[in-house]
Amino acid sequence: MFKNIKDKFLKMTSNEIGIDLGTANTLVYVSGRGVIINEPSVVAVNQKTGRVVAVGAQAKAMLGRTPGHIVAVRPIVDGVISDFEVTEEMLSYLIKKAEELSKKMLGPKVVVGVPYGVTNVERRAVRDAARNAGAREVHIIEEPMAAAIGIRLPVREATGSMIVDIGGGTTDIAVISLGGIVRAKNLKVAGDKLNSDIMSYIRNEFKILIGEKTAEDLKIAIATVIEHKPALEAAIRGRDLVTGLPREVIVTDSDIREAIGPSMDTFLESVKEVLETTPPEILADVMRNGIHLAGGGALIRGLPEVLSKYVGIPVHVADDPLTAVARGAGIILEDMDVFEEMLIQNEDELPTRK
Ligand code: ADP
Ligand code: MG
Repeated sequence: MFKNIKDKFLKMTSNEIGIDLGTANTLVYVSGRGVIINEPSVVAVNQKTGRVVAVGAQAKAMLGRTPGHIVAVRPIVDGVISDFEVTEEMLSYLIKKAEELSKKMLGPKVVVGVPYGVTNVERRAVRDAARNAGAREVHIIEEPMAAAIGIRLPVREATGSMIVDIGGGTTDIAVISLGGIVRAKNLKVAGDKLNSDIMSYIRNEFKILIGEKTAEDLKIAIATVIEHKPALEAAIRGRDLVTGLPREVIVTDSDIREAIGPSMDTFLESVKEVLETTPPEILADVMRNGIHLAGGGALIRGLPEVLSKYVGIPVHVADDPLTAVARGAGIILEDMDVFEEMLIQNEDELPTRK
């Protein structure tokens, strides 16, 4: 009786929120409201005072532009927490913001995604950071599962579904059936790697230095993995390696294609590897249902076509691919009984998958 009253009270006054703690972006889904926060995973810290100066888009704009005593940090690297304190600060800021926006307080119940195959220690760090940031209850879900749920693939049915989530730090490739991950691979070739490929290429071919932000803008503006007619072009400014002075050059989509070619090959090969070890019945399902792409990398021009041709399976880009994981976390929260078995309940008792 008292428990019921307590549960009702908590439901009225506290939030249920799903968090996609990504290397590039952190999204917050609030139950009944949808994705209400979507910010780059960047925090600017004043090193003199130890205070957080900015979080999210504001902090990202500071990357590479900070004076000596302010550092802009990306606390998530390759999908896992690399700076615990800063992650905690970021989560606490975002949870507070979610509480303000939804006018509910009292420590939310949270579902957070982690990449496939992270260690127990890495999962525990996520759980602890969310708790310290104010969460009353923390549940962990593997990101490819959350993404598949987010785009409403039939994950609990006796049919194979395949999801490829290309994020900033990692790409998760997973085949799912009957509520579990049947085959999966996590690789570090994702958006950030493409950015660094572009930086190296521009340095080697044009002899100018560009920053990470410029490389990313260039990728989003003109990257295409198949020839584009007419050619796509962008003017970029960087520092000439010889004179040390600024110089402007015109870069085309074919430059970018060459820059990211080797990484794209690794990506294609990895998807093929997962398919090669997928049991035949499930493989037949995947051939019929197609491969679903999520994450920001799904938006690279021509990628669905190239992947489809490489593996001989239809490829579909999820609607709104960058919010798939957060939406999945939200669907799980709203239907906890149905999805409970897919959550990672107690990381201390689970062996590490890798
Ligand atoms: P994460 O889950 O790791 O935070 P996201 O799924 O949010 O990653 O995707 C972020 C990555 O997607 C970044 O590397 C970004 O550069 C890339 N990205 C976003 N939009 C595009 C686009 N239109 N074309 C190519 N890459 C993109
Ligand atoms: Mg992600």
